[in-house]
Amino acid sequence: MDQIASVFKEKKLKLTPQRLAVYNYLINTTSHPSADVIYSDIHIQYPTMSLATVYKALKTLVDVGLIQEINVGEGNFRYDGNSLPHPHLQCLSCGRVDDFKDLSLDNLNALAKEHTDYQIVSNKVYFYGYCSNCK
Ligand SMILES: [Zn+2]
Ligand SMILES: [Zn+2]
Repeated sequence: MDQIASVFKEKKLKLTPQRLAVYNYLINTTSHPSADVIYSDIHIQYPTMSLATVYKALKTLVDVGLIQEINVGEGNFRYDGNSLPHPHLQCLSCGRVDDFKDLSLDNLNALAKEHTDYQIVSNKVYFYGYCSNCK
């Protein structure tokens, strides 16, 4: 919570209870939920919060770099409270998204740099397959 407070202060943004609720929800889950899922879970605690407010809070949090947006295709997005780069696994059947634990790709940018004249800044790595429930 200290991190969000200092980031919002630095960016001169108002730390509303809604933004805080969305952020706290995300840092306490590894399920990479969609905005709809976040909305239906948070709605219980914040009945006056609309889906539009959830979307706006997510956009703000992505913009300031506190969370990351994961493009799962066909215009669908998931959200991740872990803003540090890490590889993801996506199930082609049920659409679940998991973090790839115990696989470090920290050297990927250095590896890429050897094959391009681009100045590499970041990367996003996704693996696709079938989860343990679907395979
Ligand atoms: Zn699955
Ligand atoms: Zn993740």
